[in-house]
Amino acid sequence: MTKKAPQIIIIGAGLTGLAFAYRCRKPYVILEKEKQPGGLCRSIYVNGFTFDHSGHFLHLHRPETQQLFAQLIPDLARVKRESWIFTHNTYIPYPFQAHLYGLPGKVKKECVEGFLERPAVPSVANPDFYRWSLGTFGKGITDHFMKPYNEKLWTVSSRSLATDWVAPFVPQPSREEVINSARSPKTGNFGYNVQFYYPKAGGSQVFVNAFADRTDNLKLSVSVEKVNYRNKYIETSAGEKIYYDRLVSTEPLPGLLDRMGSLPAGVAAARKKLNWN
Ligand SMILES: Cc1cc2nc3c(=O)[nH]c(=O)nc-3n(C[C@H](O)[C@H](O)[C@H](O)COP(=O)(O)OP(=O)(O)OC[C@H]3O[C@@H](n4cnc5c(N)ncnc54)[C@H](O)[C@@H]3O)c2cc1C
Repeated sequence: MTKKAPQIIIIGAGLTGLAFAYRCRKPYVILEKEKQPGGLCRSIYVNGFTFDHSGHFLHLHRPETQQLFAQLIPDLARVKRESWIFTHNTYIPYPFQAHLYGLPGKVKKECVEGFLERPAVPSVANPDFYRWSLGTFGKGITDHFMKPYNEKLWTVSSRSLATDWVAPFVPQPSREEVINSARSPKTGNFGYNVQFYYPKAGGSQVFVNAFADRTDNLKLSVSVEKVNYRNKYIETSAGEKIYYDRLVSTEPLPGLLDRMGSLPAGVAAARKKLNWN
């Protein structure tokens, strides 16, 4: 079946695709391969319990997004972060590098000594995470926490992980704060997410539904299988061929490129360098 309308095809009903549709003033269709919208931000409900696919919190640093969410979700709770790290058979507050006090003596000593003797961060743009962490926190903190935690979170070796993302997300306490944290259990407010917003009920799916309920052309369980970018149409898992004026893709870039058929040589070469997990 061939369809000429709508003009804009949006691949994916995660927050990006839905937020685009919410603002879009031209005819569009959103095609989502899963049976539920939300992508990474979905929640599942089992026996009255809510499970987010991963912890998702709204930070809303910009006034316009604060206003938007106040309007879309009136009963958001403002939550003070309380997060703890289970390590070496004990719990210490997050972030590890600013709460060395509760660690076993040997581990604490290695963290402090490693921090004081740390090498310089390599003076290259975007060093790998392991070397960045060694230079920023020293060997003890790196080997006892930064390396195992980030390799678990990102599922790749810390030596192949880039560092252009770390600035807002990995708290970097001062020299005094690290050393004092080994002497005293005093805690402070570290990181970008000391406070955040979260739905009072329903989990992060509430963020998704706030947009999904306001879109009018969302097709679930339909996957975009092929993209013919030369003739501007897509083919779906439902056997449809749909032409577009504009294609908005929110799927991971390697997946999009792989369904586009033959690519210009430069793009094909760049594709080989992309990793996604
Ligand atoms: C562990 C973790 C924690 C995070 N915590 C936070 C947080 O606390 N706060 C925050 O603001 N952000 C957080 N993020 C980031 C946030 O999850 C993402 O920025 C956001 O959800 C991305 O939305 P998206 O729509 O771009 O992508 P996705 O959520 O990946 O959505 C893409 C959608 O496209 C669909 N799709 C893919 N291919 C096709 C296809 N061929 N055809 C049809 N549909 C397709 C997918 O099924 C999916 O629904 C976190 C991310 C992770 C991984």
